[in-house]
Amino acid sequence: MKKLLDLIFLPRCAVCGEILMMEERKGFLCRDCAGAIPYFPKKVCPHCGNETENAGFCGFCMKHFAFASACAAFPYEEVRDAIHLFKYDGDQTIGYGLGELMAEYLLNDHAELLVKTDMMVSVPLHPKKEKHRGFNQTQILCERIAEKTGLLFEKKALERKRETIAQSELNPEERKQNLKDAFSAATDFTGKRVLLVDDIFTTGTTCNECAKELYRAGAKEVMVFTLSAAGTK
Ligand SMILES: [Zn+2]
Ligand SMILES: [Zn+2]
Repeated sequence: MKKLLDLIFLPRCAVCGEILMMEERKGFLCRDCAGAIPYFPKKVCPHCGNETENAGFCGFCMKHFAFASACAAFPYEEVRDAIHLFKYDGDQTIGYGLGELMAEYLLNDHAELLVKTDMMVSVPLHPKKEKHRGFNQTQILCERIAEKTGLLFEKKALERKRETIAQSELNPEERKQNLKDAFSAATDFTGKRVLLVDDIFTTGTTCNECAKELYRAGAKEVMVFTLSAAGTK
């Protein structure tokens, strides 16, 4: 019976992936998640879990990266099911809901990024992978963030030059090698402050390689914002 129900399209909660009750369907969250959206607590570094002052990555974590700052809306475990439904089952209404929540998070907790950012770019997929999946999940998140916040989203500003192995299958050193020179800027970023968006932050190699390329293409400052962070602690 459950299998059969899964085949029928049913609106699901954008955070936990639960099927929504009839009365919850006006929004995109179930009653539990709507009552307390499980955003990252403001004083916790999304990367190491230690206390921070600035609702983003702590100074110690930032020493390892080329980008100037980073923040994430959700702990990965909180949105794992929703990400799965969105990315692999292709439920784009969940992506829309997640993008909406990312926009809310920026508006409420990171107004400084909204003021600073000249343009938002998404981490690109290789065209073959995008074709296979049918969409780039991060691009969908960015489109919704742009609609809600007014940030300028440059869709094809960053490209993936070559195919790479899924990062999740590699150790940290292999991850670096895998992505070395994998990205190329397709726009002039001279003097621009860029908000780089991705869906999941794990070791940060992907965002770091993208940031290096953005700086190489002239960016003045690269700030990272992800839907979720898995933490390394
Ligand atoms: Zn929920
Ligand atoms: Zn940290």
